[in-house]
Amino acid sequence: VRAELLAVGTELLLGDIVNTNAAWLGQQLTAAGVDVLASTTVGDNVERIVAAVRGAAGRADAVVMCGGLGPTQDDLTREALARVADVPLRRDDALAAALAARYDQLGRRMPERNLQQADLPEGAEAIPNPVGTAPGVRLELGPELGGAVVYALPGVPHELEEMVRASVLPDLLRRAGGPSVIVSRVLRTAGTWESAVAEALADLDRDLAAAGNPTLAYLAGEGQVRVRITAKAASREEALAAIRPVEERARSALGAAVYGVDDDTLDGVVHRELRRRAATVAVAESLTGGLLGTMLTTAPGASETFLGSLVVYATPAKVALAGVPEPLVEAEGAVSPQVAAALAAGARSRFGASFGLGVTGVAGPDPQDGVPPGTVHIGLAGPDEGTVRSLRLPGDRLRVRLYAATAALDLLRRRLTGG
Ligand code: ATP
Ligand code: MG
Repeated sequence: VRAELLAVGTELLLGDIVNTNAAWLGQQLTAAGVDVLASTTVGDNVERIVAAVRGAAGRADAVVMCGGLGPTQDDLTREALARVADVPLRRDDALAAALAARYDQLGRRMPERNLQQADLPEGAEAIPNPVGTAPGVRLELGPELGGAVVYALPGVPHELEEMVRASVLPDLLRRAGGPSVIVSRVLRTAGTWESAVAEALADLDRDLAAAGNPTLAYLAGEGQVRVRITAKAASREEALAAIRPVEERARSALGAAVYGVDDDTLDGVVHRELRRRAATVAVAESLTGGLLGTMLTTAPGASETFLGSLVVYATPAKVALAGVPEPLVEAEGAVSPQVAAALAAGARSRFGASFGLGVTGVAGPDPQDGVPPGTVHIGLAGPDEGTVRSLRLPGDRLRVRLYAATAALDLLRRRLTGG
């Protein structure tokens, strides 16, 4: 199957927003074995949308559109599709009722004009939108119009993504006559690097590349690396069965770096593991300035396991509030493994927590007291012997701080899960 992408929205042309939908669609369609021939962007103008759809439909088997499905004046995708097929727009009563019910559920009055989201070009079908109000549109164009199928999706990325996974990709694959179900599983890792992950999985990747299915993809960000395993098959069960051995090989190659799957979060895993043993954590953070505390308060119910954070940025604060011995700071410097350990021990004892974490480092861009930027020390204090992890991180202040906070969470996670 050959596809073209068509993004609608004047704000994309003006550069107000970036067309991340095209990037995401390109990845997903390519991974599913669809050839993406071209990607076009047009503004909110009916004639130009019509011309772009006609052009794409003449070249490709499928046109995947995004944007312009909302209820406002500049949402013109439905109207453009009706013009392309030369059919009238008709209100779909079931869709109208579903829209009204959704507003009722939210306890809000539906503006009259929102009903236009229940309009479909004659002969088109709605694509269900499980996470928003505007349904998508699926329209088959006759042979005189290129014989392509057009999928029109909302611009809002998470709605589009949901609908592509649930409806568009399976439909495209069915049309291609191949396996029609795509299932992904994401392995989440922390405390490692993208290149280290890729290296650990190099053999597996090579074996998979030879067969072409399942596939592996790496996504790095915020001090974590995700590995996505994607399988195509005739059924969900078959896809899962194809993923299982790949996941096992990946897990054994990555070892303790894997902290969870799919929607798991690092802070969520830490919270869960602490709760399981009725344990608590407190932190004393210098470099991260409260970021670690923010992460530890993200999980619902965090108050059961997180006692508090001392943000001790200045050296006297480290001494007065976290109980770091002044001679230690003088002898070793504020950015040292010894001070990280003392911060962790101080947080633990001041809050009476089971575990204490301490973070100190140089965010940059300049060295501090001769210590180069990106130097980070993380201390962990617990019921038994403490540990310190020292890192040299690349990147700007934000990245160094984010990575440091993530690494601190990960140090505790590894201790709790025995990794
Ligand atoms: P809505 O019902 O929200 O109006 P829509 O289908 O009309 O949805 P748009 O109005 O075009 O979609 O876009 C809604 C929002 O989705 C935009 O404000 C923008 O933040 C985001 N968005 C739109 N197009 C894209 C795109 N191509 N890539 C990334 N984000 C996009
Ligand atoms: Mg809109």
